[in-house]
Amino acid sequence: MAAPHLLGILLLTATPLLAQEAVDTAAITRIRREGFEHSQVMQFARTLLDVYGPRLVGSRQYRRNPNVLVAQGYWSHLDGADEHPPSFAVAREHYTRLAHLLDAGVRPRLEVSLAARFSTDDSMGYNVVAEIPGTDPRLAVEVVMLGGHFDSWHAGTGATDNAAGSAVAMEAMRILKAIGARPRRTIRIALWDGEEASDNYAGSEGYVRRHFADLEKLELRPEHAKLSAYFNLDNGTGRIRGVYLQGNEAARPIFTAWLAPFRDLKQAAVVMAAVVYHTTMRLESMPRLRLPAPRGRP
Ligand SMILES: [Zn+2]
Repeated sequence: MAAPHLLGILLLTATPLLAQEAVDTAAITRIRREGFEHSQVMQFARTLLDVYGPRLVGSRQYRRNPNVLVAQGYWSHLDGADEHPPSFAVAREHYTRLAHLLDAGVRPRLEVSLAARFSTDDSMGYNVVAEIPGTDPRLAVEVVMLGGHFDSWHAGTGATDNAAGSAVAMEAMRILKAIGARPRRTIRIALWDGEEASDNYAGSEGYVRRHFADLEKLELRPEHAKLSAYFNLDNGTGRIRGVYLQGNEAARPIFTAWLAPFRDLKQAAVVMAAVVYHTTMRLESMPRLRLPAPRGRP
């Protein structure tokens, strides 16, 4: 999560004129019922937070996680080992006290004890990947992806950043399975390792390199043409209030139509953000298909 980046977002209200995108209201009714009456999102979150706890990059705890369905290694965390010395966080109360002492002109002396262990038994990173296969013979090769980062930061269990997003993505997949959804395109969840705390976007970058493009030469792999969309959730806990367009104004009428059935949940905003967190899946140098013109427009 990169909360400071969310400052300065520009909220634009949806325009009914543009809401021409076809929406399967029957499916949405089933999704809402399953989500409201049988939600397991808190169980997913509690399992991540309380049973497994911290999911720090390269840690044994991360790799021991039996929630890993399909694991794909991408590169060694040892590559950047020198750049990431052991570190620790100071509790807010202690930080505040130190600040007060400094304000009072006192120069505090700190005595810290830090025990660190460096493990080299498995330096690979592991993304968590699973999918619901598409059912349309022609469109099943196309993939719609969703996810967030699975790794957590130091000195915590990573509830907000980002077990919350991971649990929601897992719940979305569970709901689709539970209601017997038969999507035309393949729906794939990817929970990224090494995304924030140690290597910058290593999990999603590794995935992009493996599946979509040689990032140095910008040579696209065939899978790139089959990727329809990727939805990333890493904006903290609480309700999902909208979708960040990330500057892609052409997507506004589509998201506006999708969110309209959730207006009663106060989730109807389509948000235009100046700068927000993004994964390598949204790399600016990666070419992307032009969105079709919104229907109902000249
Ligand atoms: Zn995050």
